[in-house]
Amino acid sequence: MRNHRVAVIPGDGIGLEVIEAGKQVLETLSQKSDDFQFEFEDFDWSSQRYLETGEYIPEGGLEKLSTFDAIYFGAVGSQEVPDHVSLWELRLAICQGFDQYANVRPARVLPGVNSRLKGAEKIDWVIVRENSEGEYAGNGGRAHRGHPEEVGTEVAIFTRKGIERIHRFAFKLAQDRPRKKLTLVTKSNAQRYGMVLWDEVFFEVAKDFPDVTIDRELVDAATTRMVLKPETMDVIVATNLHADILSDLAAALSGSLGIAPTANLNPERAYPSMFEPIHGSAFDIAGQGIANPVGAFWTAAMMLEHLGESTAAERLMAAIERLTASGLQTKDLGGTATTQDATRAICSDIEQQ
Ligand code: ATP
Ligand code: MG
Repeated sequence: MRNHRVAVIPGDGIGLEVIEAGKQVLETLSQKSDDFQFEFEDFDWSSQRYLETGEYIPEGGLEKLSTFDAIYFGAVGSQEVPDHVSLWELRLAICQGFDQYANVRPARVLPGVNSRLKGAEKIDWVIVRENSEGEYAGNGGRAHRGHPEEVGTEVAIFTRKGIERIHRFAFKLAQDRPRKKLTLVTKSNAQRYGMVLWDEVFFEVAKDFPDVTIDRELVDAATTRMVLKPETMDVIVATNLHADILSDLAAALSGSLGIAPTANLNPERAYPSMFEPIHGSAFDIAGQGIANPVGAFWTAAMMLEHLGESTAAERLMAAIERLTASGLQTKDLGGTATTQDATRAICSDIEQQ
């Protein structure tokens, strides 16, 4: 029996609701299997905790987390804490602490989901986001605070090492997909230093992957291509900022923010990787029991794959597709189902398979 120790951080808002749903689905899957089981440990690292104690992560928290096989994360964000504080103190602290430099975001339209985009059924992308440096390196400063001549700088840091490892990761991922295509997205016409380095290193790494078809796009043009010619893209590699924006676009084009999953990977497995739905805490709908749990389910499938449980991951993915195809949908997709309705339906489907 393979035992997977998973640290669960539901976080804030609907994170609590969808991660609870995802855990139930994972439990159901493991009960159907004699091969593996989960050992979940819950962590209450949240904005609530921050407001009460002044910290998101307690002392020694990261060391404790580092002993787990994976982290299942909900969302962080609260009306009482500025977003840049909650993001840096919790989510980015984990991503950076565990060198989870590869952020992977698949996007495709699941059966039964209506996209507002014509031809959206042709979307089948994986966006690879550099997750450790670049525009979100946290470098910058403020001068002359409050004065009319106040200045704020935000300095993007790109290192050859950081660029090379994300490109190599993206090429390997593209190589494993049927179409074997990789699109480089930068902004190297307007930004002459870091972006040009990104381009150069990409073409150097490309020499090691002759079977991958490559092309390149400026980030502005990439947005129009995603909308107008979705079928021409497969794997997309981009910087922290650019890929952040492109993946929200991808999620919206493929149906709803509530569906999309993401993995923050430390590909060398020196530290645990973290899996989360891409949506935030969504306080407008929190506590109502109507959050779409599909993003948390798809996230769970990515986590299973990472833990080496490919068969279970495929079974879960198939169950997710039967769920969305059945028309049992939450409000964000135009339906009336609750989080619990969707969770019950997928669990009983898994039990019957
Ligand atoms: P954060 O500040 O943490 O990013 P947010 O309040 O900006 O959170 P997002 O998750 O970014 O919220 O989503 C924007 C909107 O999309 C939400 O306000 C909500 O209405 C909708 N939404 C997001 N996720 C879901 C979901 N899982 N189910 C239903 N609706 C969702
Ligand atoms: Mg948001």
